[in-house]
Amino acid sequence: MELRISHECPQCSAPVTLEETDRLLECAFCRVKLYITSKETFHYWMQPKRTDRELILIPYWRFKGMTFSCKAQKTEERIVDTTLIAADIKGMPVSLGVRPQAVPLRYVTLDVNRYFFVSYKPFKSVFSTMETKFQRIEKLKVKPSLSAGNTVFHRAFIGETMSVIYLPTYINNNFFYDAVTDKPIVPLNRETQLDFTKAKDWGLRFLATLCPYCGWDLKGEKDSLVLFCRNCNSAWEASLSGLKKIEFSVVPQEGGASIFLPFWKIKANVSSVQLNSYADLVRFANLPKVIKSEWENQEIAFWVPAFKIQPRHFLRASKSATLAQLKTQKELALPKGYIFTVNLPESEAIEAVKISIFDLAVPKKEILPIIDSIEVKPLSVEIVLVPFQETSHGYIQQTLHLSFGRGLLWYGRNI
Ligand SMILES: [Zn+2]
Ligand SMILES: [Zn+2]
Repeated sequence: MELRISHECPQCSAPVTLEETDRLLECAFCRVKLYITSKETFHYWMQPKRTDRELILIPYWRFKGMTFSCKAQKTEERIVDTTLIAADIKGMPVSLGVRPQAVPLRYVTLDVNRYFFVSYKPFKSVFSTMETKFQRIEKLKVKPSLSAGNTVFHRAFIGETMSVIYLPTYINNNFFYDAVTDKPIVPLNRETQLDFTKAKDWGLRFLATLCPYCGWDLKGEKDSLVLFCRNCNSAWEASLSGLKKIEFSVVPQEGGASIFLPFWKIKANVSSVQLNSYADLVRFANLPKVIKSEWENQEIAFWVPAFKIQPRHFLRASKSATLAQLKTQKELALPKGYIFTVNLPESEAIEAVKISIFDLAVPKKEILPIIDSIEVKPLSVEIVLVPFQETSHGYIQQTLHLSFGRGLLWYGRNI
């Protein structure tokens, strides 16, 4: 499900249609190029048919991404593309269904403040409740003997897209009406209690895509979360206070490469498990290697793909890159080849470290009971550009023994 957002160009007010993953707004009329950022989750609302009512805006979580469930035997992964009601209102649709596809969404801006906003619950609690419901349904279908070992020890959500969408409703004749279709949804229940909140400035900003250092045009694809300056060789990501410089390094390769895939390299403090040095990693993953004494002092980092890809391949890439601990170099210049778009947020990559740790652990029985309580505190995060060679089959990284089919990589962008 690909959602569209209609907006006006902040410079010339011409109408602009954006896809939900777009981070660059390019106006066809005045040619301005702006970088879309939000301090918090993006908040959208569906345009009501009529605006003469006192509208009550019902929140739904919009989640598109991967979920991982750590079980005793394996990690189960899924692609999830959904909307889920984020408040308890009896009879209200659990999901928005195809509604957001039928009407273009709008950003919630301060002029929408005059309406009533129902406050929303955190995504994790909403999703877990929903999953439990699904599981109950599934369990009815599965024979008890088969469901043994099905306990989920840890669950993670790696969201590529996460936002809040409001459904406008109004109350008329003791009925909730959908203000988009102007049709009744559900009778107003005596027990219906609505917890309202004030809409606030969620920090939607449109920034010039000019390098804060040198004023040069920053380069990036429509969905890039990191923009590069090829003039002063710097990398930038959105932050609370505009564009923030981030560190990048390159895995050196003789003769260059045709394409560079970005990985988040995360140094972190991990509680409850001994994972500080390369020697720890070899023991933790039970690698068939004789530990050298210098490995005890060799720091490690967790590597997570910074690009969207199917969950199974995402895990595989994290694992091989983390185990390889490739040498990186702080380059003075960005490499010449094509740099694949960074479209998996840093915050989500940090979330993924735990899943990666679980995936690395051999055997798993010691980590199972503690995986949920492990805390990952990032100490430093940078983007590493990893060289891949293009072949007729796709893109190959020899040292990592990793390859991605061309279709897989480009398909991933639409996960
Ligand atoms: Zn314009
Ligand atoms: Zn620059």
